[in-house]
Amino acid sequence: SDETDWQLTDIEGADGAAEVEHMPVLAIVGRPNVGKSTLVNRILGRREAVVEDIPGVTRDRVSYSASWSGRRFTVVDTGGWEPDAKGLQQAVAAQAELAMRTADAIVVVVDATVGATATDEAVARVLRRSKTPVILCANKVDSERAEADTAALWSLGLGEPHPVSAAHGRGAGDLLDVILEKLPATPREAPVLGGPRRVALVGKPNVGKSSLLNKLAGTERSVVDNVAGTTVDPVDEIVELGGKTWNFVDTAGLRRKVRTASGHEYYASLRTRAALDAAEVAILLIDASEPITEQDLRVLSLIIDSGRALVIAFNKWDLVDEDRRYQLDKEIDRELARVPWARRVNISASTGRSVQKLVPAMESALDAWDKRISTGPLNSWLKDVIAANPPPLRGGRQPRVMFATQASVRPPTFVLFTTGFLEAGYRRFLERRLREEFNFDGSPVRINVRVRD
Ligand code: GDP
Ligand code: GDP
Repeated sequence: SDETDWQLTDIEGADGAAEVEHMPVLAIVGRPNVGKSTLVNRILGRREAVVEDIPGVTRDRVSYSASWSGRRFTVVDTGGWEPDAKGLQQAVAAQAELAMRTADAIVVVVDATVGATATDEAVARVLRRSKTPVILCANKVDSERAEADTAALWSLGLGEPHPVSAAHGRGAGDLLDVILEKLPATPREAPVLGGPRRVALVGKPNVGKSSLLNKLAGTERSVVDNVAGTTVDPVDEIVELGGKTWNFVDTAGLRRKVRTASGHEYYASLRTRAALDAAEVAILLIDASEPITEQDLRVLSLIIDSGRALVIAFNKWDLVDEDRRYQLDKEIDRELARVPWARRVNISASTGRSVQKLVPAMESALDAWDKRISTGPLNSWLKDVIAANPPPLRGGRQPRVMFATQASVRPPTFVLFTTGFLEAGYRRFLERRLREEFNFDGSPVRINVRVRD
């Protein structure tokens, strides 16, 4: 929809000193049916489920803003999906890993009436390594008598089980007190600047991610086999390219081909997201020798959601003939119209053709991603554009764009202060002109509109 790239967010700050709100994040994890959604609603102080979760690859994380004892935080509910029983353990463990990377505190929910299951234990194994604070919630303890059941959950190795009845509210206040004790007052720092830039190699299975990593790293490494169900620390790989050091994140999954995992779409999407969360720039691999597929576009959506800089590598270029090249151009026009700004490189991971061109593409994409436009030039540009092309009337009234400021970088995020609503077409026009003027090639740009009536 039109709103996806134009998020309307609540912005705090007075007198145009806009700052996008940034609150500590609490993630709720656990296997299905333990009561995560019920607990989220309890935390939010609502009785009814507020959101109908849509199972699927990009819709499974829903965040809400919450407050308790005067402190505000964001709650991320990771429920709403139904992986098949076979992939369940891995999917839930991957979800916990993702929470470790992105949240400031984690509540793991267990059903005390059932006790610790194998899946709960798989999650606990992941979370025991966590540097992020973990709070164990023993849910469905509806009565004092039931509290005896919770002692057994000490065996998970996650510390004290906190008995709660999310459905009835019993113990919820105590749990929230514990959460606030462990939740840092400020959100986790963005990873330090100045280290090697972090790259995620992403794409559907068999596009050539591990071949490219091998080519770039210059060695064929032995593939370490992994016992299904265990989770290995995410392993990053440092690679020298173009005289600089790059950190390829989460390459463990590329090095060890986990048979069961790669077949599981949901698990694969979680891995992709974890890699994107850890990265600054994504290289999206697309098999140029085959038609662009739905699966490629799903990975692209994950990248767009992540806000990372983007380079698209059309791989297997050695297999592309004139006919295919012609078809591919048409597919790019049709399927990749959402990202006209992405850097594109044609490579062959197996022959090594043009892989070195990835380096300048990543560098310029990151420059755009880091770019900050000061308020003066931004507003004199805005004034000229609007004078030449005023926003279309709405309901007989002329919306006015009064002021713009860049609220943040990585990616560049702008706030427009307006009177009246700006149509999606006009906002896209402004983004186009902004890109022409200041050159953000390789980076997404976000424009938030703050309407002041
Ligand atoms: P999720 O899949 O982990 O999000 O679980 P839900 O929140 O959808 O809850 C699963 C089921 O457990 C629902 O039928 C809830 O009504 C029930 N449930 C959740 N919390 C409690 C509780 O504290 N006590 C009892 N008895 N049932 C609960
Ligand atoms: P991954 O699943 O994305 O890591 O893909 P792989 O690196 O395992 O590659 C899948 C298959 O595609 C392997 O058989 C590779 O040899 C082959 N492949 C990868 N890159 C290229 C390329 O540039 N050209 C050709 N012809 N084959 C490639």
